[in-house]
Amino acid sequence: PKYTKSDILRKAQELDVKFVRLQFTDILGIIKNVTITVERLEEALDGKIMFDGSSIEGFTRIQESDMYLMPDYDTFTILPWKPRKGAEARLMCDIYTHDGEPFIGCPRGILKKVCEEAREMGYEFLVGPEPEFFLFEMDEDGKPTIKTNDKGSYFDLSPVDLGENARRDITLALEEMGFEVEASHHEVAPGQHEIDFKYAPALRTADNIVTFKFVTKAIAMEHGLYATFMPKPIFGENGSGMHLNMSLFKDGVNAFYDESNKETGLSEVAMYFIGGILHHVKGFTAVTNPTVNSYKRLVPGYEAPVYISWSSKNRSALVRIPAARGIATRIELRSPDPAANPYLALAVILAAGLDGIKNRIDPGPQTFDNIYEMTPAERMAAGIEDLPGSLKEALEYLSKDEVIKAALGPHVYEHFVKAKLIEWDTYRTQVHQWELDQYLGIF
Ligand code: GLN
Ligand code: MG
Ligand code: MG
Ligand code: MG
Repeated sequence: PKYTKSDILRKAQELDVKFVRLQFTDILGIIKNVTITVERLEEALDGKIMFDGSSIEGFTRIQESDMYLMPDYDTFTILPWKPRKGAEARLMCDIYTHDGEPFIGCPRGILKKVCEEAREMGYEFLVGPEPEFFLFEMDEDGKPTIKTNDKGSYFDLSPVDLGENARRDITLALEEMGFEVEASHHEVAPGQHEIDFKYAPALRTADNIVTFKFVTKAIAMEHGLYATFMPKPIFGENGSGMHLNMSLFKDGVNAFYDESNKETGLSEVAMYFIGGILHHVKGFTAVTNPTVNSYKRLVPGYEAPVYISWSSKNRSALVRIPAARGIATRIELRSPDPAANPYLALAVILAAGLDGIKNRIDPGPQTFDNIYEMTPAERMAAGIEDLPGSLKEALEYLSKDEVIKAALGPHVYEHFVKAKLIEWDTYRTQVHQWELDQYLGIF
């Protein structure tokens, strides 16, 4: 660890911290806070702050609801957009039961467990995410709309594009919080943006994604905009994905790189990792694409993957191999979206990749053609299958994938599936505007 307890107590004093938010996520990846004043910081650092777990989605039964928060000291940072006199800081926490055991329903704990399995095999899992999001206007009541503030689009009265300013301030805040922002840019759709951060160990990256979403929403709000990570907010436009650039390091060396492989520059480990991903992707898609809406992004024509394939050449593939080699050798998984709980998403992806290594799963040949342009018969001949087409289908594949279920553990698996089936059923029984437009006039 970077910081000790006394480092944090000292930093809190130096930075004039008054409030400390102890943060964690529920099973769905929604960020939760228990805010304490600095007087209780020492108690918090000792893991003595308690909360009622029974009110948190997918956590626990009423009779065993006392949960404890154990902060990860290295995640201490202030929230730079808040006042500096009586500043606010945050700490990401693991959840423990009252017997001092790690709580099996803690998503962060689940990622830690799979990372530990990787470590036992000699690997460290590094991930660099590329989350995309939309900045929308709000109406008079402060409710989000799907109107964008882009120059030249719907609301073009202001001389500057509010979205660009908001994105700049988000980037500055993240840097102040210790993030290394690699790139930030406008995306394809009006009002759509992307901020990429530098790769880091998976646990740190998952913490970063959670924090990133929270910072983005808070700063957008200060600009009078609403930031959303909903995967497909506008029909006919690109949705928001969260590409994940991934590699395994062994003894400080990138285990995905193999100079002697003249064709791809990829090692056997990389190939088997890809093999594991392709083999288990149907099983883990419910976790990486967890909403009804996620599947409206995974359709042809919007730069999102639809078919299960890998390629070093084209961006229609599910797994793309960016050109960089040597220490920067990595694979890019293009299906996940930013609605995923990042801890669970990284846990199941890593479990899939490790299973590929353990069982030497061959990913098959890479695809050089643009898969969107192949006919179903050509895809079938090439052995290219489809990603699940709906949340329901994805949940069915998940129920059959023992490797992914084991990574989640029975507690999270059951609570997750239960919540998602309710979500699916609520959606399925609604009458949508499209149906009225389509059928009311003709039947
Ligand atoms: N927005 C696209 C998606 O849904 C990705 C676009 C891109 O980054 N090239 O995945
Ligand atoms: Mg990108
Ligand atoms: Mg992008
Ligand atoms: Mg990308």
